[in-house]
Order: sequence, then C-alpha cells, then structure tokens
Amino acid sequence: MKKIQMTTPLVEMDGDEMTRILWKMIKDELILPFVDLKSEYYDLGLEYRDKTEDQVTIDSANATKKYGVAVKCATITPNLQRMSEYNLHQMWKSPNGTIRAMLDGTVFRTPITIPSIHPAVKFWKKPITIARHAYGDVYRDVEIVADQPGVAKLVFEAESGDREERVIHRFKGPGVLQGMHNTDASIRSFAHACFQFALDRKETIWFATKDTISKKYDGRFKTIFEDVFESYKERFEAAGIEYFYTLIDDAVARVMRSEGGFIWACKNYDGDVMSDMVSTAFGSLAMMTSVLVSPDGKYEYEAAHGTVTRHYYKYLKGEETSTNPIATIFAWSGAFRKRGELDNLPELINYANQLEAACFDTLNEGLVTKDLVNLMEGVTPTALNSQDFLKAIRVRLEKRLS
Ligand code: NAP
Ligand code: MG
Repeated sequence: MKKIQMTTPLVEMDGDEMTRILWKMIKDELILPFVDLKSEYYDLGLEYRDKTEDQVTIDSANATKKYGVAVKCATITPNLQRMSEYNLHQMWKSPNGTIRAMLDGTVFRTPITIPSIHPAVKFWKKPITIARHAYGDVYRDVEIVADQPGVAKLVFEAESGDREERVIHRFKGPGVLQGMHNTDASIRSFAHACFQFALDRKETIWFATKDTISKKYDGRFKTIFEDVFESYKERFEAAGIEYFYTLIDDAVARVMRSEGGFIWACKNYDGDVMSDMVSTAFGSLAMMTSVLVSPDGKYEYEAAHGTVTRHYYKYLKGEETSTNPIATIFAWSGAFRKRGELDNLPELINYANQLEAACFDTLNEGLVTKDLVNLMEGVTPTALNSQDFLKAIRVRLEKRLS
C-alpha cells in the first residue's frame, strides 16, 4: 500500500506514563503503516521537561503557533510526590496551562459516543461539547474574612486619576467577602474561539450567564459575545447554524431535555462544574476528546484523561493492562483531519475518517478495553488488552483503506 503523504508537519507532543506507552503503540499500529508521517517532535515527558527547564513546553507551543496544528499526549503535572519520584529541579507548571496561556486558547471537550453505551440522560442522542472559559472570575479571586463589624467597599482607581467607589455591605457581625475580575480581551478571545469552533464543527453554539442578577459583570460577557458574533453572523447563516443565548438556569434545563449535538459555551465556573456532569453522564473519561482552539484558529488535540498512572505501575511490573486508547487515537485523527483540511489533502482527511470508523467498527463488534465492559448494553463485550485492541482496530482499518 502506498503511504499517504503530508505537506506540513504536525506538532507532536509526547507525554508520560501509560499514555506514553500507548502513544508509541498507536503510532506503530495505526499511523506509521499508513501515513508517511511528517511531524515536529517535542518530548513533553517529565524527564525531558526537567532537563530543559520546561523550555521544551514553550518550544512546542511556539511550534503550534507556527504550524497551526498539534497533537498532544497526556502529561504529568508535578506535585510534591512527583518531585521525589522524578528527582525534579523544580515543580514545573502544568504543560496544558502553559500551552493554553501561550495560545490564549479555549478548551473544547466532546464525548465519543457509541450506540451500546447509553448516556445517563435518556434524551441525549448526540454528543454535547463543552467550551469552558479558562481565565478569571472566582479562579483569580481575592477573599477576605470579615471577622468584626465594618464596611466593605469596591474601589477602582483608574490610572487617569478617576475613582469609583461602591459600598458592598455594612457588616454588623462577621462575614466573608470576595472580589473577582475578568478582562474584555480574554472574554473576546473566548468568544472568537467559540464561534470559530462552531463554524468548524458546523454545530449550533449556546452561551449562558446570569445577567439578570449580575447586570454589569455577566452583562459584559453577554454584550461582548453579541458584539463578536456580528462578524460571524453571515458565515453562521451560510453554515445553517445558530448562536443561542439564554440564562444559565434555563440552559441547564434545556440541555437536559435536548437531543445533544451542539456546543455549550460556559463561563469558567459553570464550565468546571458542567463539564464533569456532561462527561460523566456520557459514560467514560477514556472516551472524551479535547481540543484547544486559539482565537486565531490554531488547534491542539488531546485526550481529556490523564496519564493513567495506576495502569502504568501495573505495566512496569510486567502485568497486562487494558488501557483505553480511543481518546488518544481521536486526538491523532482530529489533528490529521485538520491538517488535511488546511493543506487540502483529501487522502489524509479520508484516512482520519476511516481511522475513527475502524475504532467504531471494533467497539460496535463488542471488542473493547476493560473500562467499557460494564457500560455496554445490547452487545456482549469481549475485553482485550491494549495491544490486542489496537491490533483489532488495525485489521478493520486495513480493510477500510484497501
Ligand atoms: P487519569 O490519568 O485520567 O486516570 C484516572 C482514572 O481514570 C484511572 O486510574 C482509570 O481508572 C481511569 N482512566 C482514565 N483514562 C483511562 C483510559 N484511557 N483507559 C482506562 N481507564 C482510564 O487521572 P489521574 O490519575 O488523576 O492523573 C494521573 C496523571 O495524569 C497525573 O500526574 C496528572 O497530573 C495527569 N493529568 C494529565 C492531564 C493532561 O495531560 N491533559 C489531564 C489530567 C491528569 P482505574 O484506575 O479505575 O482503571
Ligand atoms: Mg472540575
């Protein structure tokens, strides 16, 4: 078979632990036999991040800015225990956080659904993608415990010398206070990333806040979204999709009664909470993809789960593991499809589609990894180890591509 050609390299970010093992298996079984892979490789494994004082993470983000499409393996975010485990020089920051900050990006999470795994919400027929704003609000707040009577004020001192002051509350006894902020620039980037992604997916996008109560703060989000949407309106109409704004409580009720098949843009806290609810209701973290989209249309694809440490320790002891590679495979297929679209390579797009279809063939025949066995209904599942599962996908992919 002639291998499929690429023109622009993918930015390839390798990672840690079990997902690093899967990364190589996926390349060997499902990519290298079919694609003449052009990639610019960055090793974001913790050892090399430590060796380069995390420069490799910065380099990989810059490469993503240059080429436009990256695929990333899960990586360890070090904590105290990892400091001693890996003998680290420093407690390096989360690579995802660093890359997200450099690309000014928004993360979109989408469940991979199959007919035999039923969502906990019976109305849901199609995936719901959550887009979470990743800056500010309560995540960058300032808090004070008022432990005696007194007056709390909100003060803004402008550089120009203007001053605005409001009384928040006159405390007669103890209480608590919280100050938070966001910036127009960040909200605007979030809005652009959301509308870009909706066009890309050809899916309607919802956004919700509580602007009836928080008239200025949440009202600002609503206004900026409306304003940014003006420049997308025509393209949305052409694509047959909509931008729908409602109140957050109304959105929650509508989501529950919906069939799915749309993108739900959430403020930072709403996204934190709702993404866990939606992903759990769809079934499994191992079946959730994630893509970081920058406001100027750069894409970084990954799995939503982590490095699956518990399985890795078993693997190191020589025990058989049945770790689910689906989300990581879909990170690759998403990146190939996007590269194919940008470079006008129909064969590469077809490969990405067939790779995903081969995964669905395998799952629908009941060949699965252990994590899915108890979730499936209507088919009798057979649990395979990771290697045999990938081999089963390969057989089906070969059939589809020949
Ligand atoms: P995790 O790696 O997602 O694993 C949590 C548990 O979920 C696993 O122990 C496993 O359950 C199940 N699971 C997740 N993915 C699976 C898969 N593909 N196949 C089968 N089961 C799967 O989260 P964690 O244990 O909290 O974090 C481990 C490391 O990953 C940490 O160092 C963290 O910093 C890092 N992390 C990285 C990213 C990222 O790079 N995007 C995201 C999250 C976490 P059972 O053990 O019950 O089988
Ligand atoms: Mg959370």
